[in-house]
Amino acid sequence: MLSNNLDPEVAEHPDELVVYGGTGKAARDWASFDAIQRTLTDLRDDETLLVQSGKPVGVMRTSEWAPRVLIANSNLVPDWANWDEFRRLDALGLTMYGQMTAGSWIYIGTQGILQGTYETFAAVAEKRFGGTLGGTLTLTAGLGGMGGAQPLAVTLNGGVALVVECDPSRIERRLQTRYLDERADDLDDALRRAEVAVRDRRAVSIGLLGNAADVVPELLRRGAPVDIVTDQTSAHDPLAYLPADVAFDDWKPEREADPVGFTKRAQASMATHVEAMVGFADAGAEVFDYGNALRGEARAGGYGRAFDYPGFVPAYIRPLFCEGKGPFRWVALSGDPEDIHATDEAVLELFPDDDKLGRWIRAAQDRVAFQGLPSRICWLGQGERSLAGERFNEMVAGGEVEAPIVIGRDHLDCGSVASPQRETEGMLDGSDAIADWPLLNAMVNVASGATWVSIHHGGGVGMGRSIHAGQVTVADGTDLAAAKLERVLTNDPGMGVIRHVDAGYDRAVEVAEQRGVRVPMRED
Ligand code: NAD
Repeated sequence: MLSNNLDPEVAEHPDELVVYGGTGKAARDWASFDAIQRTLTDLRDDETLLVQSGKPVGVMRTSEWAPRVLIANSNLVPDWANWDEFRRLDALGLTMYGQMTAGSWIYIGTQGILQGTYETFAAVAEKRFGGTLGGTLTLTAGLGGMGGAQPLAVTLNGGVALVVECDPSRIERRLQTRYLDERADDLDDALRRAEVAVRDRRAVSIGLLGNAADVVPELLRRGAPVDIVTDQTSAHDPLAYLPADVAFDDWKPEREADPVGFTKRAQASMATHVEAMVGFADAGAEVFDYGNALRGEARAGGYGRAFDYPGFVPAYIRPLFCEGKGPFRWVALSGDPEDIHATDEAVLELFPDDDKLGRWIRAAQDRVAFQGLPSRICWLGQGERSLAGERFNEMVAGGEVEAPIVIGRDHLDCGSVASPQRETEGMLDGSDAIADWPLLNAMVNVASGATWVSIHHGGGVGMGRSIHAGQVTVADGTDLAAAKLERVLTNDPGMGVIRHVDAGYDRAVEVAEQRGVRVPMRED
């Protein structure tokens, strides 16, 4: 899985160990990568490798039930948890940015986010457009590792997407992997194509080379008929957002020469960008922040109304979190796509009444190009994840698939994150910044038998803004794996249920009662 994260088809910049999300890395440096691989190759079944921000620092005698790897990435003491201090330590070679699934070795390429993005746009369609995006235009930016899922997620929901990206190679890559349908020559061409497709209710995605801080305000000025606006540039890291007054080719040299000055210029551009998004919201469009901290950076850039539109979690995703639903994903270690097709069928058989899930799996089979090892993602909730995990383990044991299946998830899950401007924005009881939950989540996964467990800081939204945990568990067909999977895949989403019960969400209380999640403060 470490190597798969750095497969050239999977990683955005594998030569620099960068997997996705700006600078999210799989290992601190190549010497660390080699040492991790070497150690894992002869690690015993009762030993655990400790990884500190991408560097293997120890092997401890533990037990068969203990994780094989424990990972802590990018964590800083709160008063020091800012980009300046992180960069100082990074330059000294003492830390690395782990993002969410880069440093925890469960990134599966753009498909990983596609399902979540599909769910989000489906929820937008449900809320505002009668259940489909047919005949609507979505304006967004960023075609990187995560953002590259946006055009396909919009078209899978029937809509038209116009996506602004400043790096021509990213547009090319999304065209090649069929996440993006077309490339426009210029803004006029893009608008023309979009308007025709909207009129004909054709689902089409159009890439446009440009800077979002120029294009979004210009579209607002022209009164373009945009229905939905969001953004997935790498705004969480101001050095990974191209300011409007910097040429693409000067990006790297300029940010290296003067990171402080560059940050200010990026924040000023983000302020212009967000001001235009608020303008679209004022004009009646559905506008939401897509988890990249753009609003916070725009506020730092001097724009006072930056938080006038909501984040996507409170707007659309929280009801799913109350059911323990989140981004369940799995990978076929055989490398054989047939193994994923067999597991797809198993999931469809397990949950025959879930139409949305069925539509997603069929669409994914048709439209998703595998990157690296074949993999799949779908959102499953409390009770469902453990059923799927146990079934996959049986398939490994019975030879229905050729090799073990790795089961994990994004750190962006129902009970594994504290991130007040994203996953925990606007919690009912105001507990947005309480970070005990991801730590409990990591500890319960260690106690339940996960194969590797990670605690990270700053993923998705940047330094100082989030703490989150991940787990990955291997279905190798043994009875021991079955016992571990049953516990991990019950307790891990169970954290989401109890976190939302504690915050006062009625739906979470119902789910806890129906599915047997114990909450002591609700017992007599
Ligand atoms: P990435 O670095 O791979 O891609 C970002 C893209 O934005 C790059 O291709 C870059 O060229 C482009 N870009 C930068 N500045 C631009 C500008 N001014 N105009 C146009 N294009 C510009 O990052 P990614 O993995 O795609 O992630 C994007 C953002 O989404 C990150 O901030 C990440 O933390 C966040 N994220 C959100 C979620 C979620 O669930 N909503 C999940 C993971 C990551």
